[in-house]
Amino acid sequence: MQFIFLGPPGAGKGTQASILADRWQVPHISTGDILRAAIAGKTSLGIQAHTHVEAGELVPDLLIMALIRERFGEPDMKRGWILDGFPRTLAQAQALDELLTRFRQPHPQTLYFEVSTENLVARMLARGRQDDTAATVRRRLEVYQTDTLPLIDFYKKRECLITIDGNHPADAVTQTLQASLLVNQSSQLARV
Ligand code: ADP
Repeated sequence: MQFIFLGPPGAGKGTQASILADRWQVPHISTGDILRAAIAGKTSLGIQAHTHVEAGELVPDLLIMALIRERFGEPDMKRGWILDGFPRTLAQAQALDELLTRFRQPHPQTLYFEVSTENLVARMLARGRQDDTAATVRRRLEVYQTDTLPLIDFYKKRECLITIDGNHPADAVTQTLQASLLVNQSSQLARV
């Protein structure tokens, strides 16, 4: 169970990741949650990250990679994992590849959550997080288009990308997701 949950901000990756991590009993690694906790706790990571997060910009790759490297060193990662909100740039995706080789971990499947811009904006404004103001939401969507969208092709080329329609209520998306994974598993078995 090694998964990357990829998709725009507000796509519901975090909701699905926490449901499935609980069901599968694997760690749910949300870089957004880790950064928010670091900011609230005024740790050195939090102090370095907070201006970027509040502006709707990405936190520098080096900081994110240090955080992820440390997390992969924890023993619970051997059971499997769900990465939520990471990688978000090509440089992060390449650094993750190196990290997986170093930790002798398998390459993950990538679930891409597709959601209309209208739904994304409505969801983010409704959840009212501190970085969910109208201006920040707009900026985060722009950053997603330029920095994160290229990852779809990156993982598509490896034939490890599964696209999920995330426009529906959370429990319907969970069902679609589990059904897609089953179909994918049986088509992989059929190929063997
Ligand atoms: P959302 O998916 O709704 O944008 P997240 O909780 O995943 O929310 O991320 C919140 C913020 O944390 C991002 O806007 C960004 O500033 C920062 N962040 C999270 N993950 C990363 C990452 N992998 N690389 C750079 N910045 C990140």
